[in-house]
Amino acid sequence: MRNLKSWDPVIDKFKSRLSSWKMRSLSFGGRLVLIKSVLNILPLYYFSLFRAPSSVINILESVRRDFFWGGVPFPEKRLHGLEADKHARVKDRVLTDAGKIDFRWSWIRVPGGRTHAEFERLVQLLSTTDLKLKDCSDSWSWAYSANGLFAVKDLVGLIDEQILAFFSTNTGTLRNKLVPKKIEIFIWRAMKSRLPVLLELDKQGMDLHSVRCPLCNDDLESVDHALVGCSKAKEIWIRVFNWWGLGNFSSNTLSKIIGGVGSPSTSGQGSLIWQALNWICLYLIWKNQNKLVFQGKTWNSPMALSEIQTLSFHWIANRLKKEKIDWLSWLSSPSSYL
Ligand SMILES: [Zn+2]
Repeated sequence: MRNLKSWDPVIDKFKSRLSSWKMRSLSFGGRLVLIKSVLNILPLYYFSLFRAPSSVINILESVRRDFFWGGVPFPEKRLHGLEADKHARVKDRVLTDAGKIDFRWSWIRVPGGRTHAEFERLVQLLSTTDLKLKDCSDSWSWAYSANGLFAVKDLVGLIDEQILAFFSTNTGTLRNKLVPKKIEIFIWRAMKSRLPVLLELDKQGMDLHSVRCPLCNDDLESVDHALVGCSKAKEIWIRVFNWWGLGNFSSNTLSKIIGGVGSPSTSGQGSLIWQALNWICLYLIWKNQNKLVFQGKTWNSPMALSEIQTLSFHWIANRLKKEKIDWLSWLSSPSSYL
């Protein structure tokens, strides 16, 4: 076992146990457990019989270290090896002049083979990136914040904006800070007709016995019908409108409700509360219709109203920073909060 080649099976086995897909799917804690439980035992048999050359130990150690730290070899390192001046800045190699980009490379030898492919990637990356080169040393900067510093909070905000994107009606954004995120996402799905109502399932080619509303059988079950048009849903809306001391509900449509159009309040916060309440109603109507259809759980409009009152109080009161909402006055005269 003096021959390095004879250790290849051990190294191969080691590497296969430490494949990069495993590394990517594991947390640091998980990686540590895997390394400890499996990998330390694996070469024990060989080591107990043969004395391993230090080069083999070093290879195994580096595989183990890379696995733990998520080490993926930097392909760019090879290209960097050909750079004549190891301290060169991006600005020394890339010239931007009035939107035009030019390069001033300085290689030890011309990149060829794999390094040529890397070189092409680099040029493409630089040409398609909006470069602003200042006369200072190179550093990492995050493009999505003013100060260039990365913050998880900013990233979360960015993702939220992408998911709950603006929609192009006059209804503003699909954001409302007075409801939980799951409600915002539910509303977004409703707006895009992405709720699994029978009509949408039918459009996707699902073989259905009927596409008529299972609750009233009066119309096709579209998102609009299920949440607003259905007589069962209407009963609930009328009760909610009565609770708020408002009259006529019948002229409402789903997009009007989602946008909070016709809000009884003119203040920003009042409109927000009104919209939040409407969204919570839509959410609970949907949830309870499903419970009725799939679990046979009976549900009527008085029960619905009391659930809407409780949950809306719970969610809105907890999220309203400036104003305190009182449970009894929420029940008796909610419009005083508008
Ligand atoms: Zn119906």
